[in-house]
Amino acid sequence: MRFIKDKERVIVYVNSREDARILASELGCESFYSDLGSIEEKEQVTARWRDGVHRVIVATSAFGAGVDYAYVRVVVHLDMPRDAINFSQEVGRAGRDGYGGHSLVLLPSRYTPVSDETWERQRFSIPVSERVMQRYVGENRCLWATLSRFVDGPDQMQYCVADLECSVCLDRGFFRVGQEVDDTRYWDGLPSTRETEDEEDDREEESEEESEGESEAEEVVARRGALEAGS
Ligand SMILES: [Zn+2]
Repeated sequence: MRFIKDKERVIVYVNSREDARILASELGCESFYSDLGSIEEKEQVTARWRDGVHRVIVATSAFGAGVDYAYVRVVVHLDMPRDAINFSQEVGRAGRDGYGGHSLVLLPSRYTPVSDETWERQRFSIPVSERVMQRYVGENRCLWATLSRFVDGPDQMQYCVADLECSVCLDRGFFRVGQEVDDTRYWDGLPSTRETEDEEDDREEESEEESEGESEAEEVVARRGALEAGS
């Protein structure tokens, strides 16, 4: 963690409190999850991270509300993020000081992208925010556009710009505006939050279901600059 300087911090998000505890112990830092302890105890853990006792914290999605620290430089998601709403808020914590940040999504080796057939079959059976994450990690499309279309709506969706590119756009050389918009197959079945507000309200509650997943991370899916989406 030598590349993290001074006030800079790292958040590693995991899907279960068990993973949070285990990984924090391996990294020698603290963990944060919903039933960690009293409000005071949670505030103390957050304060120690903010004060730099440990520059890294391993957390579930419970770590979020009230965490307004400007110098988060790296946000890592270990395992598949389940929900695009939480995910966009979590990556939006990076680079709030205006100096950029990185988002890494590390998928387990067992992860396989959802096939087109499965995509069609699950169209109405799994939450839209999960489907957005499937697209996010499974397709070779601008990551920012994928998330932004969902969060900001089709009319205000944003793309990568020069010097602030996602890993997909970096690989391509640069993103060609309009390409994603014209691809109706890709967006089919992905309404934005503006169209699904009622549905998504039900999922605002943080989910901390136990995960069976091993946390072995092998594949770097996403690396992108300061993310404003969702902030
Ligand atoms: Zn991009």
